Amino acid sequence: MRLLLHSCCAPCSAAVIENLLAEGLRPTLFYFNPNIYPSEEYNLRKAECSHYARLLDLDFIDGDYDHAAWRGQMTGLEKEPERGRRCLACFKLRLAVTASVAAARGFDTIATTLSSSRWKDLKQINEAGACAVAPYEGMNFLARNWRKGGLSERRRILIRENLFYNQTYCGCEFSRRDP
Ligand code: SF4
Repeated sequence: MRLLLHSCCAPCSAAVIENLLAEGLRPTLFYFNPNIYPSEEYNLRKAECSHYARLLDLDFIDGDYDHAAWRGQMTGLEKEPERGRRCLACFKLRLAVTASVAAARGFDTIATTLSSSRWKDLKQINEAGACAVAPYEGMNFLARNWRKGGLSERRRILIRENLFYNQTYCGCEFSRRDP
């Protein structure tokens, strides 16, 4: 299996990567998160993720950051709650690009670290993953529940051990809490 792992951030990725490596799977990380606002927050999360990939000697592909284009795709969904229709559209957009990069670079499987966050709807993520790979023959979406099997606990431990930056919101401007 040649696995391209869409990575949303280091805190969501650490236990997932550890789990995959234990299975003998060595993923390439793909950082594609144009949903993140503002750009300072994006740069912080990306730097932490690429640094962690370097620590583990994993390949890291840096996707484009075009927040205005992402925002345009979310038109009409601004007032949706988290886990609502905007989040499904956001997952679909990120995973569709992940699948297209995977196809172009010879990967046969994609997965996403979004599946490790208990704040997100796993059904939405799996739907987005299935849609993303549908146009590519032989491409699979690895639908996993990375919240089970002790992974949530490992996630907390690895966040502490690595002193990861403490994110306070999902990523887009609509998920920022008022101070
Ligand atoms: S809340 Fe998170 S998943 Fe939902 S649209 Fe915003 S960034 Fe995307």
